[in-house]
Amino acid sequence: MTHIVTRLCLRDTACVEVCPVECMVLGLPEAEWPWLYIDPDTCIDCGACVPECPYEAIFPEEEVPFDYEATAGVWIANTKELLPDGKPFEGEVDGHAVKLLNAAQLAGGEVLDLTEDITPHYDFFSEGPGYDALD
Ligand code: SF4
Ligand code: SF4
Repeated sequence: MTHIVTRLCLRDTACVEVCPVECMVLGLPEAEWPWLYIDPDTCIDCGACVPECPYEAIFPEEEVPFDYEATAGVWIANTKELLPDGKPFEGEVDGHAVKLLNAAQLAGGEVLDLTEDITPHYDFFSEGPGYDALD
């Protein structure tokens, strides 16, 4: 098992320093890899990163919600393909400075299947740039 970062990630990297096995990698290029990614083969499921995330974007893999109900004003980030109405955003979200290539602020009440965000982690470290990032 591993922990998973979801589209609620706004790339502020607040979680990275606490990881004892240094398995968290910021996705680049952002247009293709919009979040921070956790290497499933290295993560030891310690949970230390979870409380560090200001946007509650990180879940144990088995607890990623398929029926996440957005609260009003929550931000999500994703690729243009998966979030076609998204726009670049630079500003403060809950007191933290963020800069995003493609993001959207939700009205609230939207139900999101965040389990769709699991597979990109495996892809990032098998065929994506994460393959080399942890060498
Ligand atoms: S759960 Fe622990 S090992 Fe896994 S990414 Fe978070 S801090 Fe790192
Ligand atoms: S702390 Fe949360 S929002 Fe910030 S990079 Fe980590 S997962 Fe993403």
